[in-house]
Amino acid sequence: MATTPQKPSLIGMSMPELSTALDPWTLPSYRAEQIYKWVHHHQVSDFADMSNLPKTLRSELSEAFELHTLKPAFRAVSKDGTIKYLWELTDGRQIESVFIPEATRTTICISSQVGCALGCDFCATAKMGFLRNLTAGEIVEQVIRVQQDTGQKITNVVLMGMGEPFLNYPRVIQACHILCDPAGLAISAKKITISTVGVVPRIRQYADEEQPFSLAISLHAPTQELRRSIMPIADKFDLQMLMDSAHHYTGGSNRRRITFEYVLLKGVNDSPTEAKQLLKLLAPLRCKLNLIPYNDTGIGFIRPEDNNIQRFLKPLEQAPFTVTVRKNRGNDIAAACGQLFVEVAEDSKARSMKA
Ligand code: SAH
Repeated sequence: MATTPQKPSLIGMSMPELSTALDPWTLPSYRAEQIYKWVHHHQVSDFADMSNLPKTLRSELSEAFELHTLKPAFRAVSKDGTIKYLWELTDGRQIESVFIPEATRTTICISSQVGCALGCDFCATAKMGFLRNLTAGEIVEQVIRVQQDTGQKITNVVLMGMGEPFLNYPRVIQACHILCDPAGLAISAKKITISTVGVVPRIRQYADEEQPFSLAISLHAPTQELRRSIMPIADKFDLQMLMDSAHHYTGGSNRRRITFEYVLLKGVNDSPTEAKQLLKLLAPLRCKLNLIPYNDTGIGFIRPEDNNIQRFLKPLEQAPFTVTVRKNRGNDIAAACGQLFVEVAEDSKARSMKA
């Protein structure tokens, strides 16, 4: 059933990996740089287009390597211009990416894993369970393919699709470095945001390595008790540990800001009491707060009404940090936050997207 690629993909290979892969050809070192650029910067879809390489080399490379591994399986366009893509991987598994055009920027939301192991109560992807990590190539290729399909330069990348990026740390970091590399996709590192559920040791590692990308943390509750009732990860890394790691990050030498995401769930975490607790918790930190009114997934949680959202915002008016409410995009095609879900069937042919 599952087919493994016969040939390795050049997308997602770092320069050292590419040089090693090219060893059998004993080429001058500048060839690896040229090829890296054709793949990641010019994003050619055919080896024949690598015009500064000798013709024989182009055809030898095409026999040895792939330039694509994601097969488009489904594409839905929302009335607001948001596009949801379903990709089939070489093993028949499927992932999603979402393209979000806005007046001043074009954002892509990409996946880092097939499914997710974390089991957050309110999240549709959690219902898939964890299937596997994506390779760096599969992560980078989502951006390349959407850029090719839309003909638009992607300015912002958020790792807020399927999966937990910090449970696939090395591949996610490698992919992000290729995305921001001027010889790669040349997307500003600050405009690449990694969103984590709160894998504390990786937040500390990310801080210590001074990674140049932005960081978002899915907080969703201001107390340990409430948080662990909706997010099983809080049993392993409690709120205190999470906040300590956040302080470690913002207090580091690069003095970065964190974006905290807070999904508003009616009757669960949307009262003024929680808003006040949140204010107290976040006030000492360099941060932003992004409230995400829950997107319906049919799994038992409800979005608060607008007046409840206003009631929650009231105590936050005096916050020393910026508070935003996330705009709802692509809801009509189930492309909004937390709605990404691919039905997993025994037979890969029977896999379909639940719209
Ligand atoms: N695992 C990472 C990446 C997922 S990002 C993380 O947890 O941060 C997706 C964001 O959308 C997370 O903040 C997630 O908690 C939130 N989310 C999940 N389901 C949602 C839903 N139905 N409506 C709104 N936000 C949701």
